[in-house]
Amino acid sequence: MLKAAFPGSFDPPTLGHLNIIQRAASIFDELLVVVAENRQKKYLFSADERVSMITELVKDRKNVSVVICDSLIVDFLQKQDIRLLVRGVRGVDDFSYEFELSMMNKSLDSRIETIFMTTDPEYFVLRSSSIKELASFHGNVSGMVPPLVAKALGDKFR
Ligand code: ADP
Repeated sequence: MLKAAFPGSFDPPTLGHLNIIQRAASIFDELLVVVAENRQKKYLFSADERVSMITELVKDRKNVSVVICDSLIVDFLQKQDIRLLVRGVRGVDDFSYEFELSMMNKSLDSRIETIFMTTDPEYFVLRSSSIKELASFHGNVSGMVPPLVAKALGDKFR
């Protein structure tokens, strides 16, 4: 059984995140989408809101589940007995950050393997932070996030 985790803020989930989830779910037997709840960070959507959006978006994928993690990801993976970490990479900036993160995780637990998935070209400009900014100015985000997320963004910034 190949079990992998895909951690992130998903604040909010975008079409880019969903693309990685779908592709990873077709490679691994089980995929756990891990929604980060870091008390030092300010999120637009609560962890419960992020989990319920992703859960709805992946409901047809029987091998994908969604959980909240408020601890160090390495500790979380050890508890779940997962060694594979999936991360999406949009370009060289993402890669240099993700590379350092993977080195840090490996120094904490050498069994953890990070698998980088490059974005599909149509999603490479999608970034949750820019989408939130656009939505805050009532810009059209419909090509960037699924309809239920576009609605949730509209409700937040009404
Ligand atoms: P962000 O705020 O940068 O979107 P997240 O923490 O929500 O960040 O991202 C979780 C993971 O998803 C990270 O590995 C990130 O690189 C990846 N990711 C985010 N957006 C995309 C995208 N458009 N294409 C591929 N991977 C992505």
